Amino acid sequence: MTTPVDSFADLGLSASLLKTLAEIGYESPSPIQAECIPILLEGKDLIGQAQTGTGKTAAFALPLMEQIDVKLTKPQALVLTPTRELAIQVAEALQSYAKNLPGFHVLPIYGGQSYTIQLKQLSRGAHIIVGTPGRVMDHLERKTLNLDNLKTMVLDEADEMLRMGFIDDVEWILERTPAQHQTALFSATMPEQIRRVAQKYLVEPREVKIKSATATVAAIRQVYWQVSGMHKLDALTRILEVENDFDAAIIFVRTKNATVELADKLAARGYAAAALNGDLNQQMRERVIEQLKSGALDIVIATDVAARGIDVPRVSHVVNYDIPYDTEAYVHRIGRTGRAGRTGNAILFVAPREIRMLRTIERATRSPIAPLTLPSRADVTNKRVAGFKEKVAEVLNAEGLDFFANIVAQIAEEQDVGAEEVAAALCQMAQEGKPLQIPGEDPAPTRAPTPFATDSRRPASFAERERKPRSDERGDKPRFEERGERPRFEDKPKRAAPPSGDMVRYRIDVGRDHGVQVKDIVGAIANEAGIESRFIGRIGLYDESSTVELPAGMPAEAANALKRTRVRGVPINLRPDEGRPDGDGERKFDGERKFKKKPYADR
Ligand code: AMP
Repeated sequence: MTTPVDSFADLGLSASLLKTLAEIGYESPSPIQAECIPILLEGKDLIGQAQTGTGKTAAFALPLMEQIDVKLTKPQALVLTPTRELAIQVAEALQSYAKNLPGFHVLPIYGGQSYTIQLKQLSRGAHIIVGTPGRVMDHLERKTLNLDNLKTMVLDEADEMLRMGFIDDVEWILERTPAQHQTALFSATMPEQIRRVAQKYLVEPREVKIKSATATVAAIRQVYWQVSGMHKLDALTRILEVENDFDAAIIFVRTKNATVELADKLAARGYAAAALNGDLNQQMRERVIEQLKSGALDIVIATDVAARGIDVPRVSHVVNYDIPYDTEAYVHRIGRTGRAGRTGNAILFVAPREIRMLRTIERATRSPIAPLTLPSRADVTNKRVAGFKEKVAEVLNAEGLDFFANIVAQIAEEQDVGAEEVAAALCQMAQEGKPLQIPGEDPAPTRAPTPFATDSRRPASFAERERKPRSDERGDKPRFEERGERPRFEDKPKRAAPPSGDMVRYRIDVGRDHGVQVKDIVGAIANEAGIESRFIGRIGLYDESSTVELPAGMPAEAANALKRTRVRGVPINLRPDEGRPDGDGERKFDGERKFKKKPYADR
């Protein structure tokens, strides 16, 4: 939150886009948006250092939308992303910002998807293409993608593309784009190679880096829950129920719409909850805060802007239901608790792909944020039972129970049961509609991973164009988002645990002579066949070919995709390895020289 810009209207966006943003419920720009949007609207090149969760997608997507001429059904912008998941996500974001732009078309193109479908979609004409480098390169080579009308090119998560071995492909594409166009490069980190690409292909780029100002946080207990296996709403109510010292909470979400939705859902579950957002006038906002102070409300669901400066001492908990855009916002949010000398509690919900933001917050606040184990059903039951017993004990201490004791004795005699049974029946009556036990099962801690991507990994709207999506009992989130499945090679131990189950060795027609490295092969296979990198076994690099171990039982679709996949422009022609490679025999294998007694390269 450098200098907070309160309104998208201050950034030079058109009235139509402002209307869309209001409808989606975006109240104010995030810091990266406030800085990048005016620069991109001016047509300047840009280097943005930002990670997932900062709102970087809208930072480039909104200016892109402003440039599109809907009447011209040719690609006018190209967004390169490292993975298919991100390509789909960015395409969906663009589609949502095009709500009031009839005829607008965005097309995600990525490996593993049928060429026939992509060709049909490309020939229909799209205004913005969002794609992974390998597949975009392929279409450019086949001349099925024409960039003559390109106005803007975006490199999203450039460091990730580097890590996955795609940077040469990215350069290949950059070299084939028209001379006159705007380029925006986003990257969470700025390794030397990314700087070099920026210097070579960007023209006088403006740099935007959201500072993560360090700040110390007062005596606030900070914990996080990694979103998985359960809806955030269910997790929230479980947590709130079991938290000790709960008095009142402010729950932070990103959009105005989300404040209202969550307030309604919590109210339906019996909480005294209300929304606090920029749509409320000053008087209404003050009323909500007064009600929180007086105890008429226990939970307020707020956006950052609306909650600025709230000082209500009884707020025992702050919940970051949606992760904040930056560390300053985090510090500001959690500062709403632990006031007037009381201890506060800050709970942060983190999706797997937002883990990097969690670490940034920890570094900036110089305080570790401990993982929170979701309370089990038994924990919740125990807590409810304890509360119930307390209430009963209070009544037992009260006067005037003789009348009821007499009734209990009568019932026991008439029904020929003991007083205990009568008490049990009365407990049940007392708890009607307020069960002490929660139905259902505790979610399994993790779901058994599968090596091959399935449809349910993709958001439905784009996946549906290909095949019917599979239902996912855990709700409406695509699985990859919850599990953060984007391969990050250095996140793994050097020698990843050997994949369980059988592996099959394949041969591919690219090797050292093609300048290929292990990471190129892993990146291409991960993206084109949707196989998570950790399931890719040992890779043997030879001069003219290589071997790669992949889990047995590869679906035909993935196998076909891998036959056609190219690495460094060379089709890999993946096939089961038949022992001695053609003309590239063991004699030539120089693994020992290169890897010092390790025949296979580590990943
Ligand atoms: P990103 O960092 O681009 O992955 O965005 C993270 C999330 O923030 C997405 O769910 C966006 O819809 C949401 N988001 C981005 N900008 C805003 C904004 N100005 N107001 C509310 N939500 C936003």
